[in-house]
Amino acid sequence: MNFFKKSKEQKESTPKTEEGSKDVHSHHHELYEELENAVLPEHARKTATKELERLEKTDPSVAEYSIGLNYVKFVLSLPWEKTAEDNLDLERAEQILHAEHMGLSQVKERVLEHLAASIMCLSRKYKVMVVDDEPIALDNLEHTLKKENYDVVTATNGQEALKLFENASFDLVVTDLKMQRISGIELLEEVTKISPQTKFIITTGYATVETAVDALKKGAAHYLPKPVKLDTLRQTVKEILSQSSTYRVPQGSVLCFSGPPGIGKTSVGRSIANAFGRKFICLSMGGLRDEAELRGHRRTYVGALPGRILSELQKVGEKNPVFMLDELDKIGQDFRGDPASVLLEVLDPKQNSQFLDYYLDIPFDLSQVMFITTANVVEKLPTPLLDRMEIIPFSSYTMGEKREIARNYLVPRQLRSHGLNDTDLEFSEEALNAMITGYTREAGLRNLEREIASICRKVDKLVFKHEITVPASLNAAKIEELLGPPRYTSASKREKDRSGVTTGLVWTEFGGQIIFVETAIMKGNQNLIMTGSLGEVLKESAQTALSFVRSSVEQFGIEPDFYSGHDIHIHIPAGSIPKDGPSAGITIAVALISLLTKRTSRSDVAMSGELTLSGQILPVSGLREKILAAQQAGITTVVLPAENESSIAILETEVREATRIVLAESVADAVSVALSAE
Ligand code: ADP
Repeated sequence: MNFFKKSKEQKESTPKTEEGSKDVHSHHHELYEELENAVLPEHARKTATKELERLEKTDPSVAEYSIGLNYVKFVLSLPWEKTAEDNLDLERAEQILHAEHMGLSQVKERVLEHLAASIMCLSRKYKVMVVDDEPIALDNLEHTLKKENYDVVTATNGQEALKLFENASFDLVVTDLKMQRISGIELLEEVTKISPQTKFIITTGYATVETAVDALKKGAAHYLPKPVKLDTLRQTVKEILSQSSTYRVPQGSVLCFSGPPGIGKTSVGRSIANAFGRKFICLSMGGLRDEAELRGHRRTYVGALPGRILSELQKVGEKNPVFMLDELDKIGQDFRGDPASVLLEVLDPKQNSQFLDYYLDIPFDLSQVMFITTANVVEKLPTPLLDRMEIIPFSSYTMGEKREIARNYLVPRQLRSHGLNDTDLEFSEEALNAMITGYTREAGLRNLEREIASICRKVDKLVFKHEITVPASLNAAKIEELLGPPRYTSASKREKDRSGVTTGLVWTEFGGQIIFVETAIMKGNQNLIMTGSLGEVLKESAQTALSFVRSSVEQFGIEPDFYSGHDIHIHIPAGSIPKDGPSAGITIAVALISLLTKRTSRSDVAMSGELTLSGQILPVSGLREKILAAQQAGITTVVLPAENESSIAILETEVREATRIVLAESVADAVSVALSAE
């Protein structure tokens, strides 16, 4: 610390001529003082002090000066050692999770298992053994480390130490080098054989520094000269143990919440933070274009800034928040640098204790941050990242769940944030149903919450104008009066039964959706025209469907040479949205059969299934999402592959009963349900 004092003295001897220089001078003085008093790792203090010393020789009017000054202030503002005290109570966590979220039972179960593992790891005390044959030194070390809350065991010689290893394991051994019979190095060698993960600190007198270097070569993590400075001991032990984070962080420790938007991923993350009593950060990864956005720019760049990871930690002022990296799969396609490698470093507990932000340029320990990631489609994530994460899938809500969540959570929350009392507005069941089906079409709840907010605002205005008095009850008619005509109508009401057009069910990153397949035949040269931003797999499905129909003309009563002298056009509307996947095969085949036989297709029937050239229907995925999307769109019958029977059987009753489900083994089965009689 003389270091600082010297600098201050130096400063005091500088003549204070102008007001400006006096300000600069006292500013530096304050910063020196702050640096001296701040709780910082030694390497950070040294770097910042060096920078401050450089500033003293720099003219305050040049750009470099303010760059340097900002750097020192940034170092000072980081939460190097400031942590929120964890509330390691699983029961409380469970209560919070239940109180803040309805349903999601499987998600909650898995989150709680993960929290239990984290609590177990976080509340585990490190086991440290101190070995020394000098009783006073032994006492000192033991006392110091016990005060740091480690589980400390002592031994007065090497044999005793080895004996202790027979019945217990230790994270760290602090041993004297020179001891009778078994030396510190011999002990290290023996212990490494039986417990390779145990770290060693060797304490040694100045005369034996060379031997200590030898100890480092043999695998000791550190050596400390005797008499051991207790502050240095504390710091060294802490650093070494934080690097061996295997016990503090459970394996596969990063949770990844996957599923469509609006189904509570962020909200569950926030509850985890509440449960632990930690701060919560949510950083959207959508559209991140550059490694520097995460890792910062080197200070040599004009306008260099720290990366988002460190700036967020600086904002919350604690080094152990719950940090959500939202929509990891949306990271910019043109990301400069390799996003996976930055993220691997950030998310890997073995590497992130030394995270290097280019702006800060000295390692910052992220190992106490609890990272959670979210993704709409986990398949888009790079495999090395996926391997590190525990995926927890969230799936779409049923109509009933949406209604209950709206009634119990969204409505009260929106009423309160619009200055209304819980009892001022009552949304009847009919009103909520009308909102869910008429004004939203989503897997989650975002738009529903938005519509509820919109109603609250309108009611606020009407109250002022004395056109409504609260408490009031809202029914479907009132909803329509407030929100205007419904944006979505049920498929059967909207669409007429027509030939050549069928309804399909697809799975997208936003949840299940219905699509329409339109077909037309016209004079031409046997061309198959496909439009609607169809992906390769979908195009192949269309070709397969056409070939199947051409090879089965007799079975379906189709003119045998219908194709000669004709073109066929298959169009899937909403052309601006790219579509792909094999599950529309059956829908396309039935549309073609409907077109060619002129049998009308029922607009309240939707289907999903992969078609083979021989007319078999292969199973598809995303059944829950597809069935719920069909229900929302007012589809009354869903045709699904017979081979999906067992996966349908395990769905909740509410989902299975959302619409009539017909299992089809062949195209003929689907045709008999979806098309009118011949
Ligand atoms: P995501 O992160 O999946 O896009 P959010 O967490 O932002 O979704 O959720 C959208 C809204 O719905 C939030 O206001 C959230 O509190 C609410 N919400 C979602 N799921 C539930 C649930 N199971 N219980 C209560 N509220 C929920």
